[in-house]
Amino acid sequence: MAQRFLIRHAHGVFTGLPGAQARGDATDLRIADGVIAEMGRGLRSQEGECVLDASDCVIYPGWVNTHHHLFQSLLKGVPAGIDATLGPWLQAVPFAFRRGFDEKRLRVAARIGLVELLRSGCTTVADHHYLFQPGADHDAAALLFEEAQALGMRFMLLRGGATVTRQLEDSERLHQPPETLDQMLAAVERTAARFHQRGPRARRRVAMAPTSVHVSLPRDQLKVVARAARSLGLPLHSHMSESVAYIEYCREVHDCLPIEYLADNEWLGADVWLAHLVHLSPREMKLLGDSGTGIAHCPQSNARLADGIAPAPALARLGVPVSIGVDGAASNEAADMISELHFAWLLHRAHAGAQTRPRPEGEGEAGADAVTIEQIVHWATAGGAQVLGFEGVGTLQVGQAADLAVYDLDDPRYFGLHDPGIGPIASGGRPRLRWALCGGELVVEDDAVPGLDLARLRAQAREELRALLRER
Ligand SMILES: [Zn+2]
Repeated sequence: MAQRFLIRHAHGVFTGLPGAQARGDATDLRIADGVIAEMGRGLRSQEGECVLDASDCVIYPGWVNTHHHLFQSLLKGVPAGIDATLGPWLQAVPFAFRRGFDEKRLRVAARIGLVELLRSGCTTVADHHYLFQPGADHDAAALLFEEAQALGMRFMLLRGGATVTRQLEDSERLHQPPETLDQMLAAVERTAARFHQRGPRARRRVAMAPTSVHVSLPRDQLKVVARAARSLGLPLHSHMSESVAYIEYCREVHDCLPIEYLADNEWLGADVWLAHLVHLSPREMKLLGDSGTGIAHCPQSNARLADGIAPAPALARLGVPVSIGVDGAASNEAADMISELHFAWLLHRAHAGAQTRPRPEGEGEAGADAVTIEQIVHWATAGGAQVLGFEGVGTLQVGQAADLAVYDLDDPRYFGLHDPGIGPIASGGRPRLRWALCGGELVVEDDAVPGLDLARLRAQAREELRALLRER
């Protein structure tokens, strides 16, 4: 039987809900059967409950990371790509190294990324994995689900891949044989039959996710793939409009803008979310809002690759479901939801101010309402669960899954803070994670993952990194 917990005396609770409901007045949470059974103040412990004293702590819903590439955890800060923009970076880093990811190496990389995320308070991860070559000697999908399960995390496989070779990888050094359309669809169907769960508090889900759909599939396959996914009840995901190259390509080859191309090919809707969406015309933004298509906003990766700033606040105002992804560690040298959220908060406020200009009539300062901490928390919790389709996850309310992070505020960083609850997001740095729970199970205790040998993982990372470089 699942363990029962009473968490009490918390300094504050962020619910993950929008607007006035963003902060709860509860200080105590009772957890039973994997869900939040009761919230309030002064709750009394019941027989058999494990009591967690959260004095000097603040509680957030477990973060939901909606776009990642776990294999890249062994490709951080590659010198050939550290100053590059997207196209040259793709060639110098993920494409250049991807052949080296056999079963053992992928497992080590996935474990590093998942552990980093978990220690930042992230309990749900959607991994966009696109290393699926015909004839591979291992089942990457099964491996990734296994690694997430071993850590007690919710996991969604965004099943990537391509049926054509894109120009950027069309050299002997970088070439990987694509799948046929039939191979891709059959593999997704098999993976979904084995892993995709429906209904409240699912632990495993699958999405159909051709890597960058405007170049990964020929035009006549877009609708086929979208219809196949919908017939299986799977959502759709892809990279989109990450850099200006997406626009240049679509204008030249498809004679329209990227989101217009998706609209023409049944690739928009409430069951679709797209990573990045940095460069958008007003018409494209309206298409996204009207169709309820979501965004996985990855601000650190977009900054690192000099792509630009996605208009996430404006998209939210148009009705686009906004979520947060850390993207792969090859373009964001940490898989850390806290640093991503701290950055997102500052970035959009800076951006709002940077867009204002002095005018003779005087408009004054602007940007106060660009984005709030409560909004950032909502995007990274309930927003994420919504785009991924994890029902009953992403908010702290009675009946919801007990996925939560309890951060310790007993650190000089937070001394003097008038509103200590905002500390983990507002003050930056890595907060100490007293506990994290996923589905009512303790997955982090005293800032450590129970049963994980970190020294061994570090040694494995070193060994695999050396081997990767030797093989080049
Ligand atoms: Zn990505």
